[in-house]
Amino acid sequence: MLCQKCSKTLEWSWKEFTRWLRNHPETDAYICKECLTSERNRKHGESKTLLYTHWKSMFVRTKGQSLEANKKYYLDKKIVVCPEWRNYENFRTWALANGFVPGLELSRKNHDKNYEPANCQWLGKSEHRKYDHAANQIREQKSDIQQHSD
Ligand SMILES: [Zn+2]
Repeated sequence: MLCQKCSKTLEWSWKEFTRWLRNHPETDAYICKECLTSERNRKHGESKTLLYTHWKSMFVRTKGQSLEANKKYYLDKKIVVCPEWRNYENFRTWALANGFVPGLELSRKNHDKNYEPANCQWLGKSEHRKYDHAANQIREQKSDIQQHSD
């Protein structure tokens, strides 16, 4: 068997081959164990890092450690991260159960409400901009809109 990724050839017994055949009825493409593992780790690592960044930035914003111009949207409104999400594992579980994939942004449905499961959703970038714009027509300063990425 020839790995489609690293082109390593593996000697298989007939028994191993038929087992593979049984488990992969739809594809003829064989990928070796090492390639499968590294691919899985890469994908896992990517979303793990991204999610962690989303999690962290909730605190950066709500604790007023982001741009001065953003303080009035978070700190002044007393926006907080809900107790449940202070635990990263809980946030990650929610994110994955609610359609998070790399590239999406965390969006609050109501910008006067907290970061909590009922008030949050994952949106694509352009979708998010539209949503953000509609929900915040009061925001006039161009710089704020550009710098603000919630
Ligand atoms: Zn391989």
